[in-house]
Amino acid sequence: MSHFDTSGLPSAQDALASDGIDVVRLGYADLLGVDRGRDVLVNRFARSVGGGVAFCRSVYTTTPLGGVVDFEGGLSAGLPDIVAFPDVSTLQAVPWEPGVAHCIADLFNPDGTPSQESPRHVLRQLVEQFKQLGLSPIVGPELEFYVMEQDAAAPNGWRRYGESTGNVYTTGRKGDPENTLIESLRLLGDYGLEVFAANHEFSSGQYEINMWHSEALDAADRAHRFKDAVKELARRSGRMATFMPKPFNDEGGSGFHLHFSLVDDAGGSLFADPGVEDGLSELARHAIGGILAHAPAIAAIANPTINSYKRFGPDTLAPWLIDWGLDNRSAMLRVPPERGGSTRLELRLGDASANAYLAIAGLLAGALLGIRNKIEPPAALVGYGYDPERSEMLPQSLDAALDALEADKEIGDLLGTPFTTAFLAYKRDEIARFRSAVTDWEFREYATHL
Ligand code: GLU
Ligand code: MG
Repeated sequence: MSHFDTSGLPSAQDALASDGIDVVRLGYADLLGVDRGRDVLVNRFARSVGGGVAFCRSVYTTTPLGGVVDFEGGLSAGLPDIVAFPDVSTLQAVPWEPGVAHCIADLFNPDGTPSQESPRHVLRQLVEQFKQLGLSPIVGPELEFYVMEQDAAAPNGWRRYGESTGNVYTTGRKGDPENTLIESLRLLGDYGLEVFAANHEFSSGQYEINMWHSEALDAADRAHRFKDAVKELARRSGRMATFMPKPFNDEGGSGFHLHFSLVDDAGGSLFADPGVEDGLSELARHAIGGILAHAPAIAAIANPTINSYKRFGPDTLAPWLIDWGLDNRSAMLRVPPERGGSTRLELRLGDASANAYLAIAGLLAGALLGIRNKIEPPAALVGYGYDPERSEMLPQSLDAALDALEADKEIGDLLGTPFTTAFLAYKRDEIARFRSAVTDWEFREYATHL
């Protein structure tokens, strides 16, 4: 007897088979945002996924180096199961893997209750709270990344692909010698990601592909798939695409900007008010107020690595201070100039390493608290956004951001206590490991003269 509604599975299996699909790649995001899962043969699909596909619950807190960090209900509880059940509405053929379709799974405990640590669950709960207020969050994700190629002589064995300077906003072979970006754009488009444009970003070897906006959970599903797909496409030609926030000392970081608005049940924008000078509704102002008020805690999940805090800084195009401004790219939160139905906020806080579900959940949690508590934002920044006399600073380390998340009970409640405690345990382990690791910097700084 399954805990799940399996009625849609036989027809999904038939439809897949008649579309020439013989493997379903069932996937879900762990806390890092890595797509974990299993390849399932289509001719056994309904039967093999009907009761949910079991995984060890500690998959949530497996480190990039393969360590298993304990959290409540994990290692010390005897490594119990979670089960993945497919959301068949997300089935999507993978254009570069003939015969394969990807399907996003939801995660449950073995008794059929939702697994509270699941990032997709965390986001869905937040969207539900907006729905109860008659509001639908709309999100447009913008991700930047670097592409590298192998080079035994380069530090860490990788050099930036297409190394050259000044290629911001260029297209074609000047900053992309093998014309890989246009191929990726087409394939990602065919993968249902609603991508629409691509270009070279500011730094050498750095690119951006833009995605259309949609309802928050769908936008997170697409951004999650996007990151996995971009990395997978690069692997096909022996390259590495990385969403690491600040991989190089001499070039800028990679952001994960989120465009955000709220619409009513009829789809009308609720952020525009043509009757006021800045054209922003009270709802938009309160959303801004909440995001700014809770920014240190949101940073913990939007900037979730030790490396994330090296992206922040003056004159970086990334933020440094907790501020907002009208069409101001030096602010943490920019309000793009379009109004009417396109009125939206652009949160520039997050970096590309963030788990897509969690980055969006953090944004929504801040906005919801602003709306609930009618938080008025400070005056909008005008001009240069990197003057520390003018605004409070963002946390300057992962450590400080995690402390802010732990101290912010309102954000913690909206993300859910089981998730927040697991996330804090996982990330504090990362800090402890980093603290005891000897870095390249220390060797260069000390070895010769000391
Ligand atoms: N790379 C910058 C960041 O880390 C953003 C550049 C841009 O404005 O697109 O956020
Ligand atoms: Mg950009």
